Amino acid sequence: MSTDSAHPDTAAHHGHHGPSRRKAGGCVKTMLRSSGLRPTRQRVALAEILYGHGHRHLSAEQLHDEAQAADVPVSLATIYNTLHQFTEAGLLREVAVDGTKTYFDTNVDDHHHFYVEGANEVFDIPGTAVTLGKLPEPPEGMEIVRVDVVVRLRPKQA
Ligand SMILES: [Zn+2]
Repeated sequence: MSTDSAHPDTAAHHGHHGPSRRKAGGCVKTMLRSSGLRPTRQRVALAEILYGHGHRHLSAEQLHDEAQAADVPVSLATIYNTLHQFTEAGLLREVAVDGTKTYFDTNVDDHHHFYVEGANEVFDIPGTAVTLGKLPEPPEGMEIVRVDVVVRLRPKQA
């Protein structure tokens, strides 16, 4: 088994089917349709909230709060369903930083994350800024889809 062929090509998947840089409005419908999701009024409203502010990382609770503020009446359960549908359709990426906190990332391109512990703050590290040295051989019959790196931060201790 070759040991140094593990060369995690950061450009391994060029999944540029994402909504990068879409403005809210009519094209949210197009985006949903081209991802195989029916553009229901609710999905369109939530997509406009999600993608109308540039790239960001939102928890279900945050999206729920924003929906309320925007007069979009949806339950938290619906928010969860919608976020998972969007994720499965490739419109969002799930970023799990610890057991309890999941963020949904509107940037589906290859990249990694800084996480400020205690502050629940997540921000992007460009994919090219992380070099992965050595990866384990995947188990028989499996292949590596992606490697997510979370770099944990805290304020400097005196
Ligand atoms: Zn991100």
